[in-house]
Amino acid sequence: MEIIKEYPKDNFTIVWQPKKCIHAGVCVRTLPKVYNPKEKRWITAENASVEELKKQIDACPSGALSYRES
Ligand code: SF4
Repeated sequence: MEIIKEYPKDNFTIVWQPKKCIHAGVCVRTLPKVYNPKEKRWITAENASVEELKKQIDACPSGALSYRES
């Protein structure tokens, strides 16, 4: 079964599919306050604005990161 992890911030949710991640590190370099691979819960969506998160998520080269708004 596909593993899907979700990291909500108000009505914005980061969706991460670990199997798709190619560990290019673009996310960590772009928003180090949000993405910290050393932490077990490695994404802290609260640490950036929704605009910053969207821009960065669109730059993920593998499609492992996506988001939805409710
Ligand atoms: S930018 Fe995407 S592919 Fe690269 S490490 Fe982050 S989630 Fe994985």
